Amino acid sequence: MSAKEIPYKIYLEEEQMPTAWYNVRADMINKPAPLLDPNTHKPMTEEALSKVFCQELARQELNDTDPWITIPREIRDFYRMYRPAPLVRAYCLEKKLQTPAKIYYKFEGNNTSGSHKLNSAIAQAYYAKEQGLKGVTTETGAGQWGTALSMACSYFGLDCKVFMVKVSYEQKPFRREVMRTYGANVTPSPSMTTAVGRRILEEFPGTTGSLGCAISEAVETAASLEGYRYVLGSVLNQVLLHQSIIGLETKIALDMYDVQPDMIIGCAGGGSNLGGLVAPFAGEKIKGNSNVRLIAVEPASCPSLTRGKYIYDYCDTGKVCPLQKMYTLGSGFIPSASHAGGLRYHGMSSVVSQLYHDGLMEAVTVNQTEVFKAAVEFARVEGILPAPESSHAIRVAMDEAIRCKETGEEKTIVFGLTGTGYFDMYAYQRFHDGQMGDYVPTDEEINKSLEKTVNI
Ligand SMILES: *Cc1c(COP(=O)(O)O)cnc(C)c1O
Repeated sequence: MSAKEIPYKIYLEEEQMPTAWYNVRADMINKPAPLLDPNTHKPMTEEALSKVFCQELARQELNDTDPWITIPREIRDFYRMYRPAPLVRAYCLEKKLQTPAKIYYKFEGNNTSGSHKLNSAIAQAYYAKEQGLKGVTTETGAGQWGTALSMACSYFGLDCKVFMVKVSYEQKPFRREVMRTYGANVTPSPSMTTAVGRRILEEFPGTTGSLGCAISEAVETAASLEGYRYVLGSVLNQVLLHQSIIGLETKIALDMYDVQPDMIIGCAGGGSNLGGLVAPFAGEKIKGNSNVRLIAVEPASCPSLTRGKYIYDYCDTGKVCPLQKMYTLGSGFIPSASHAGGLRYHGMSSVVSQLYHDGLMEAVTVNQTEVFKAAVEFARVEGILPAPESSHAIRVAMDEAIRCKETGEEKTIVFGLTGTGYFDMYAYQRFHDGQMGDYVPTDEEINKSLEKTVNI
């Protein structure tokens, strides 16, 4: 196919990299419900949002009319260092599984931060710099988001303050040191540097922290410092928008080779990589031009789409962020200590939630030990050592390919390989030593957590 015939051509630069992000909300018939103010329960305005987020990001958060949003030249220059990300045909995995299916994966682990999170981190840092801010604050659990943001901030010369859940700070010293290499200030949370941290430490002296607490500390710090804003690495509309670069590049590559996918599979934590990967395909589905299956994969230990409720809930445990209508297990839900830290979120992006609610997307859960079995099989034949989060998608892609072997169908499977797992070797160690378990919450636990959420 010649370059002239490539769809989305007008949005391509040098026929490979998109010059605009795709905002699927503009094409959705049922729009995601608006964010609500946690105190008044009224829809958040751009003005109110821009006290928390950078101005342009607040605008993007509320934009459900423009399908294309230009990617500023400075961001594209950065993307060019590691994009387009490769779309790889998994020939060796196909051979190993003896499947007639064709398996492709979009690999986002090709940058030093090791995951797709850099795609949004660089955009958020850029808009902060543009606005003349001094720096940003954030929280990080497993550490991938903090790492990506540190890289992005160092590129634009912004200060970056990361509150890292104490248990990760101690257990993942190398992630911490990567962040410090990029100039970030990393504080174990809870800390003595914020009022909320001091209060929690007084109440629970030996606590190893939680994501909810780290968010509260990051928000308090941003609010108390002149020229700082708080930034978030998933869940939000703006993050899904930036991550649409994954789906656009995937679609461009598939179109270029005239490949029609039968299903697109992605792991779902807060929904940003999945939402970005499926965005252009969901757009085609909404317009009636495609019936590709879109599949979200969740850990059985944190099943927000498959077992949660579609209601308004807090995005954070500290209940300071706006309320969002989404599939949720309740903002107080504490998932078991699984090794896929990036998927341990109680809620889900409102876009992904609405697509799922409208039947445009499916969702499945997988158990941790099965995920690691898939990770090891994949690593041995495809060479890449996958992140535990990404391996959820690998598991389902492999299961679908095995099903094709049984039925003899030659389906085309595309999945998102969101990152590498070099900082997760402790998890691999537990798996190799046979010490990894599978935890599935009971209905009672989920109901108890949901009872405590707001009622709107
Ligand atoms: C954070 C992370 C995820 C999950 O986040 P989403 O917002 O759901 O995409 C998946 N994979 C990796 C490697 C991550 O770092």
